[in-house]
Amino acid sequence: MSNRRPLIAGNWKMFKTCSEAVETAGQLVKLVAMASDIDVMIAPPFTALAPVSDIVRGSRVSLGAQNLFWETEGAYTGEISPAMLVSTECKYVIIGHSERRQYFDETGETVNKKIKAVIKNNLIPVLCVGESEKERESKETFSVLDKQIKKGLEGFSSDDLETLVIAYEPVWAIGTGKTASTDQAQEAHQFLRSVLEKSFGNMLAKSIRILYGGSVKPNNIAELMAMPDIDGALVGGASLDPETFSKIVHFKK
Ligand code: PEP
Repeated sequence: MSNRRPLIAGNWKMFKTCSEAVETAGQLVKLVAMASDIDVMIAPPFTALAPVSDIVRGSRVSLGAQNLFWETEGAYTGEISPAMLVSTECKYVIIGHSERRQYFDETGETVNKKIKAVIKNNLIPVLCVGESEKERESKETFSVLDKQIKKGLEGFSSDDLETLVIAYEPVWAIGTGKTASTDQAQEAHQFLRSVLEKSFGNMLAKSIRILYGGSVKPNNIAELMAMPDIDGALVGGASLDPETFSKIVHFKK
């Protein structure tokens, strides 16, 4: 057993208006009030961060954002700064989600700049990495993961990365209903930990939480969590319904 504290994180993507987000968060707060020895995070869309913050304050649920821009402030129409997230009492920021890499030209370089901004502002980065179906088929999974980790974390020391969370999300498993087998997920997580160990040392590699993401549901979370290098989950679709998400949080029952 590792002493890494599990984290179950919900990525609401571009779903829920303010009133829907407040309603869902309110139900979730009640449903997970008794969950112990586990961290719970939800990442609503930017527009719902402030009202959801009022709902989750003082509860078992922490607030996360789905993205940010690295500059402090300025003429960057449509962007959100680290300080703006801090002002909503946001704790975590998801960086480099495959949908952002795929549809919004997120690159290793922009991911790296964003992680720097997150850490500088004492927020917790959740760095998403993962291979496409084509890359898995052509046996490039490990080289893709190696590159994404090394580029994303370029220029950091182990001290900078104490709070870092990694999310392994095979692109072919996101929103598709296909889950990586527990062995495929464990193999990737173990590989990621070995890359972290080579770059930042054993102490840090052992302490970093690596979440699995890709069609996580109440019926597959327990077997995933039983693997030695899986420390939690980043959940998309199944985080939108509070009852379903709370079943994932209570996976031990
Ligand atoms: C995600 O968006 O990070 C994700 C894993 O989505 P889903 O759970 O819907 O596959």
